[in-house]
Amino acid sequence: MSGQLVVVGLGPGAADLQTPQAAAALAAATDLLGYETYLARVPERPGQLRHPTDNRAEISRARHALRLAAEGRRVAMVSSGDPGVFAMASAVFEAVEQGEPDWRGLDIQVLPGISAMFAAAARIGAPLGHDFCALSLSDNLKPWATVLQRLTAAATAGFVIALYNPLSRARPWQLGAAFDTLRPILPASTPVMFATAVSRADERIVLATLGDADPAQADMRTLVLIGTAATRRIERPDGGAWLYTPRWTAA
Ligand code: SAH
Repeated sequence: MSGQLVVVGLGPGAADLQTPQAAAALAAATDLLGYETYLARVPERPGQLRHPTDNRAEISRARHALRLAAEGRRVAMVSSGDPGVFAMASAVFEAVEQGEPDWRGLDIQVLPGISAMFAAAARIGAPLGHDFCALSLSDNLKPWATVLQRLTAAATAGFVIALYNPLSRARPWQLGAAFDTLRPILPASTPVMFATAVSRADERIVLATLGDADPAQADMRTLVLIGTAATRRIERPDGGAWLYTPRWTAA
């Protein structure tokens, strides 16, 4: 049997938000690789080998997966959400490009998943209904000046912004600095959504405005959505609200 590497998106958390294609690939794998927190979401199967790693060793994890596939194993590399969004699929192709020539002939497949921004948006209505962008706030893999430059450009251009990796224990101040960068550009009434652990048991959704958004509402499991001046808020009788961004932009 020839080897294979599938890069699998697990979705945001809930089992029923994982695709049947992903579940079938996980069941068929001989070897599972990935960040241990994500591997813990995959049911154990007898005979399957698990190779947990920490979150940072992405390229060496990708090389490990490619070596196993080249040996003829059926390898599944797991990511949360979609594997191509701030996740392992890019690390795999970076490793292929820099690695052994015969890795280019391997059967490598990327199986999509529901990314956090889609799961979060669906919880509140349709905030991503018009032009939007996704930005990682982490400056582990790019300079902080680049983050600020992209935030400024995105807000100036009128994109709804989905912020991944808003903060962590090692990066506690970035989200507050991001809000401070956006405040001179967008109205204070611009809706901001904090969506934490979407589709999981401890899910928490908080709605705010850019004027009063408190970075303390976020942790490393939070997706922060920042609307535009066009994003609308519909109040509901129970005190909750929907957010949506209309499909159109006026001329
Ligand atoms: N590939 C993933 C993103 C990985 S980056 C995807 O497509 O969703 C990790 C970041 O994703 C977290 O810091 C957080 O911003 C976001 N995230 C992942 N799962 C989430 C969830 N269930 N709820 C809210 N945000 C989540």
